[in-house]
Amino acid sequence: MTLRIGIIGCGGIGQEHARRLHFKLAGAQVVAINDINLAAATQFSEMSGIQARVLDSDQAVIDAPDVDALVVASWGPAHEEQVLACIKAGKPVFCEKPLAVTAEGARRIVDAEVQAGKKLVQVGFMRRYDAGYRALKATLDAGTVGDALLVHAAHRNPAVPEMYVGDMSITDTFIHEIDVFRWLLNDDYVSVQVIEGRKTRNAHAGLHDPITVLLETRQGIRIDTEIYVACRFGYDIQCHVVGETGVASLPEPMSVPLRSNARQGSGILMDWKLRFIDSYDVELQDWIEATVRGEVNGPDAWDGYVASVTAEACIEARRTKQILPIALPERPAFYARQG
Ligand code: NAP
Repeated sequence: MTLRIGIIGCGGIGQEHARRLHFKLAGAQVVAINDINLAAATQFSEMSGIQARVLDSDQAVIDAPDVDALVVASWGPAHEEQVLACIKAGKPVFCEKPLAVTAEGARRIVDAEVQAGKKLVQVGFMRRYDAGYRALKATLDAGTVGDALLVHAAHRNPAVPEMYVGDMSITDTFIHEIDVFRWLLNDDYVSVQVIEGRKTRNAHAGLHDPITVLLETRQGIRIDTEIYVACRFGYDIQCHVVGETGVASLPEPMSVPLRSNARQGSGILMDWKLRFIDSYDVELQDWIEATVRGEVNGPDAWDGYVASVTAEACIEARRTKQILPIALPERPAFYARQG
């Protein structure tokens, strides 16, 4: 069966996902597209060679009888309404992060899905599909370093644009760590502290950079993450899990080790888009196959909700300079953990 897909939002990642689904992956075809900028959507549909119908509203794509499933890649504030409309129509939806821009909004999606009685929503937390994180999780799950005790992590980016300000280092950047650590450790968070230290002269006026986020999990695992988005030297993702009998680390991206000009070393990526590029393929291929089976196999609406609750707690902890509890309601049985 070929899954017929409607795309809502044809900006950077919407276009990439549309091309990936239509030309690269197996079992999917993009048949309808909408963007708030219809001219841009039309141009993309024609220039890309996808030649999908461009419909004049997001709802028209959701309602189209030949659309089996949706990809929501519009800007964040539109996600909630669009995902709720997909649930109402009974259609599976892959929503790019964030699921909603508030925890309350994400909760409304969870409630609507539970009410509908069928899991339909997957959230675009693609790190769970990265080969390196998967290898690290397999190592931890096998007990190779014993029980996890501590995690030391870093999310470094060479530079960010002037429009990246305030708490975006949490809502746009750290949000990926928030999701992936819960999955990696089979755990949830109970408290958070955010520390602003000395600011780099390379950060623009609207941004305090770097910051450190300290999370504590239900099992007592302590996670420290450096978020440093004006680091200049590279896009560098680090994750070291200290266990009872050893340390397991996220593998570095493949890079040729060099001995040259009296130095030894290897390259560091500069562009975030390249760091997890393969994981987008694995993520969406898995989504296609699970959707055809009538399942949601990846990060679900509950995971999107937990990410939003945690991000809001991080922002409040930063504002108040306090260690704050992260209050999560019990996970509904509907969203039983898949491991
Ligand atoms: P973008 O380039 O700004 O694209 C968003 C597109 O959606 C734009 O074309 C925008 O049109 C359109 N749009 C805005 N409101 C809409 C609406 N109500 N209905 C339909 N289309 C609408 O942003 P992006 O970088 O592609 O990001 C899109 C989403 O993906 C964001 O939520 C972002 O956080 C997420 N994302 C995730 C990853 C990841 O690694 N998982 C990576 C990149 C982005 P206008 O430009 O005319 O407003």
